Amino acid sequence: MAEDGVIVGLEVHCQLDTKSKLFCGCSTDYRSDGPNTHVCPVCLGLPGAMPVINKRSIDYAMKVAKALNCRVLPESEFSRKNYFYPDLDKAYQITQYDKPLAEGGYLEIESDEGGEKRVQLTRIHVEEDPGRLVHMGNAERGRYSLVDYNRAGIPLIEIVSEPDMRSPREARKFLNKLRATLEYLSVFDSEKEGSLRVDANISIRGSERVEIKNISSYKGVEKALTFEITRQKNLLRRGQRVERETRHFIESTGITQSSRSKEQEHDYRYFPEPDLRPLHVQSWVEDIVLPELPDARRERFITQYGCSLNHARTLTGELKLANFFERIVAADPKGFSTLAATWIADTLIGELNYRSMNLDSMDAARFAELVGILRQEAITDKSGIEVLRVMLDQLLKNEPPETPAAIVSRLNLAKSTGDTSALSAAINEVISENGKAIADYHAGKSGALNFLVGQVMKKTRGKADPGDLNRLLVEALTQREV
Ligand SMILES: [Zn+2]
Repeated sequence: MAEDGVIVGLEVHCQLDTKSKLFCGCSTDYRSDGPNTHVCPVCLGLPGAMPVINKRSIDYAMKVAKALNCRVLPESEFSRKNYFYPDLDKAYQITQYDKPLAEGGYLEIESDEGGEKRVQLTRIHVEEDPGRLVHMGNAERGRYSLVDYNRAGIPLIEIVSEPDMRSPREARKFLNKLRATLEYLSVFDSEKEGSLRVDANISIRGSERVEIKNISSYKGVEKALTFEITRQKNLLRRGQRVERETRHFIESTGITQSSRSKEQEHDYRYFPEPDLRPLHVQSWVEDIVLPELPDARRERFITQYGCSLNHARTLTGELKLANFFERIVAADPKGFSTLAATWIADTLIGELNYRSMNLDSMDAARFAELVGILRQEAITDKSGIEVLRVMLDQLLKNEPPETPAAIVSRLNLAKSTGDTSALSAAINEVISENGKAIADYHAGKSGALNFLVGQVMKKTRGKADPGDLNRLLVEALTQREV
């Protein structure tokens, strides 16, 4: 639910997934290499080195701007933002200031009230990532810090929202939707460590605004905001004031802490970058063709495959998931889209999360085979879950994977079709063992029938067809009454 009087705005920094850095030819594939191995005179800021703009990063940034309904400015400009910090070798960052790449725009999210709502955007600009400090020990008490410039010069876009979100949950929805949109555009890889960092502004209506800096995970944003709301509301309840300040989120403890430095008072003395000419992109932006984006794909899943709104939302919320669903549906020409949607959205995702597994580990053809078996009603839903769990556990333990059919046969899970004698025998046993429940049933107590169904299911080890079971059980109970 929307929290009372909570106002949240986000500044999201995303690394663009280009091959080389923003102003030089150094490779951006630095994560598995040693420190300071992807550097050159330009990204080290050596005197006399000249930056050259990476065309692809501007192309990617314009795609994002167009997808987020922004107005791309016909002329934008790079500026120098001057400050001294060890991760910034040049002592200035090349960024965009008064002439950003794009302004305005919006992103639609599912609001706390359930409908769609628009979060307005202020601007999108392009800038270079600074280097990275590695603290030996921790930032306060460590003996020394090391600096790695491999990250310096990686292209970033900063997306600034208006303060349009009303709860930590809406902030998470905004980030999820943004991530999905960037992935659909193939300009961003959310699985790369540190590829997304967020500054969050939060206030309680009528009091001062607090900025939480540099949150580096999606879950971290929701946690940091939840913590801040409690902290600020407690202050107000005690009659104290919320200070306007910058705070840091401590991931390990889930709290925010006041930054000792007064960072917001910086004077960055921006001025236009003298080594780069302004960008003129008018005709370029008109030529950009966007792929199908999450909202359009969600609507198509509803109309083309008959998905429910919730299933369509879940399935299109991640590019990989949406592609996986379409591969499963394509595997059966006759189509079993609603069953596949249900099994992916309601069961597979949960089982994967429970095991901290990634969708990549599940083979689409194998999963399609399982859905096929379920569609033929050859096994019950309960057995289906059992088969899926075996499949995932085998993948997790690196055991040779069995086909769903092999698992069904090894565990003897096939529903007994036609012959209901075993089921009738189980029903008779349950009836003779549960006198009280039967009396309850005849007394009209709700729940008694469900209890008896559960007992029969237990005896048949979940293999009984639920339709047959219900019919035969009610028949047997009625006969008893007569
Ligand atoms: Zn370089």
